[in-house]
Amino acid sequence: MQEKVREKIEELQLQFQQEINGALDLEAVEKLRIRFLGKKGEVTALMRGMSQFSAEERPLFGKLLNEFKSSAEQILENRKKELKEKDASLRWEKERLDITLPGRPFPLGRKHPLTIISEEIEEIFSCMGFQIAEGPEVETDYYNFEALNIPKEHPARDMQDSFYINPEVLLRTHTSPMQVRTMEVMAPQLPVRIICPGKVYRRDDDVTHSPMFHQVEGLVVDKGISLADLKGILLLFTREMFGKGRELRFRPSFFPFTEPSAEVDISCIICGGSGCRTCGDTGWLEILGSGMVHPRVLEVSGYNPEEVTGYAFGIGIERIAMLKYGIDDIRLFYQNDLRMLQQY
Ligand SMILES: [Zn+2]
Repeated sequence: MQEKVREKIEELQLQFQQEINGALDLEAVEKLRIRFLGKKGEVTALMRGMSQFSAEERPLFGKLLNEFKSSAEQILENRKKELKEKDASLRWEKERLDITLPGRPFPLGRKHPLTIISEEIEEIFSCMGFQIAEGPEVETDYYNFEALNIPKEHPARDMQDSFYINPEVLLRTHTSPMQVRTMEVMAPQLPVRIICPGKVYRRDDDVTHSPMFHQVEGLVVDKGISLADLKGILLLFTREMFGKGRELRFRPSFFPFTEPSAEVDISCIICGGSGCRTCGDTGWLEILGSGMVHPRVLEVSGYNPEEVTGYAFGIGIERIAMLKYGIDDIRLFYQNDLRMLQQY
């Protein structure tokens, strides 16, 4: 009968051993303790069943059960300790601050090259007493063409060149409408001295033209303003933007809203005037259009062309940026390629 006693205890031990190996956290270990050693646990149940053994067997059974009990207690304690240590070291790994690690790079945004150039232009003209005006990109035919002395049959009004929304409304094709809008508001005050940066839209799309691009309009109206004033201010601007020693060249041109009109070239910023590929061996680069405000434009805007004169100019911001940064494809500005944008 002693075999039966040993068998019973061995069975218990085996079961306990299997369970303890599968207890992976403190909670599981505690459950195991309650199941085997608790008041209503396996050991207690066996104690109660002691009556099935004979009087000779009982002492052995009691002894073995007690041995199991104390060894199980010890194993449970050890297992708890082990799990607690593992837990603490995991937490330490997680919370540990290694001050020798290099910092994580924090990507910073930066200004778009067109914004940089635009702000530079604004800064230069602000220093010369110009105010900055802004106007609508969706413009009426009147401000975009009519008031600027561009008659109905003028090729610039061709539907092919402009984005019309309806026959009277279009996306502005230049920033020049702001000449009239500004003067209408200011007349008869003098002087008028503004620049107006902004987006303009034309049906163009190639290496040097984009359907949307940026211009800065300039306008000065006062008593006794002459072409010499225009040339002076543009020379100052050019040298601020492209460096000292740049020369300007005025080429006669035609714009309906200025008279006389001139395209303005600067001495080539690559070769300095001796001729290279960028300037097509001419030594000059075209940078803007300008002229004296047409008397009819002054008149429709509320100024008397007998008393005041003015000049206006329009600078292409992309053009300036392309020259300054040596970019030969205008589309690079709009492709949002970080490899390109991060260079500025
Ligand atoms: Zn050149």
